Amino acid sequence: MSGPAPLLPRSGDKRSSRGVCRPNWGDRLHATTEGPVGSEWQTLSDEIRSCTRCPLHRTRAQAVVYRGGPNPSVVFVGEAPGAEEDRLGRPFVGRSGRLLDESVAGLGVPPESVGMINVLKCRPPKNVFVERSVAACRPYLDRQLALLAPGVVVPLGAHALGTLDPSAPRITDAAGRPRTAGPWRLFPLLHPAAALRSRRNLARWRDDVGRLRVFLDAPANG
Ligand code: SF4
Repeated sequence: MSGPAPLLPRSGDKRSSRGVCRPNWGDRLHATTEGPVGSEWQTLSDEIRSCTRCPLHRTRAQAVVYRGGPNPSVVFVGEAPGAEEDRLGRPFVGRSGRLLDESVAGLGVPPESVGMINVLKCRPPKNVFVERSVAACRPYLDRQLALLAPGVVVPLGAHALGTLDPSAPRITDAAGRPRTAGPWRLFPLLHPAAALRSRRNLARWRDDVGRLRVFLDAPANG
């Protein structure tokens, strides 16, 4: 089965015999190990997959745990799985995920050093974020971040930012600027789904991703 063409074609992309352009970087990220090797991560992942702590377990196809390398230096945190993620059991594999993969590929970070998770592990009905499920699901997020131990955490959108840093300003003011929340160095971005809603948002997204690249290139963040 082929997917739609990428949103931001890059010079290193390859084109399949069916004319579908696929980013090399994204393919490599999809192929990386699913999180740290070790029994603690495995136990946590199994807990998430069998969780019934909130009503979202009733409507999910499956809980969505993680996509990325075993020791990521940068972890992107979305809000919740969408339809494709729910179907495939992996975060950011729909249209938003393609934008994220293609943008992150330009950061100069190897796929093995990138991780992707969500605040809520189960798809909310109609993709409407369920604030009241955060309290039940939050311990999983904290445990994942503690085991992944990234140098930089990138909240994607208002719900991810508000969960990780309740004192943060609104996402349109916080995006593209580093900040600290507890033990984490945050670099918020708009949610890629929001970036795809308008040319203006997409331009803002690209600018902010450029700022993230500069931030990651700084010696203290290498
Ligand atoms: S959203 Fe989180 S707390 Fe709710 S059932 Fe899924 S894993 Fe459990």
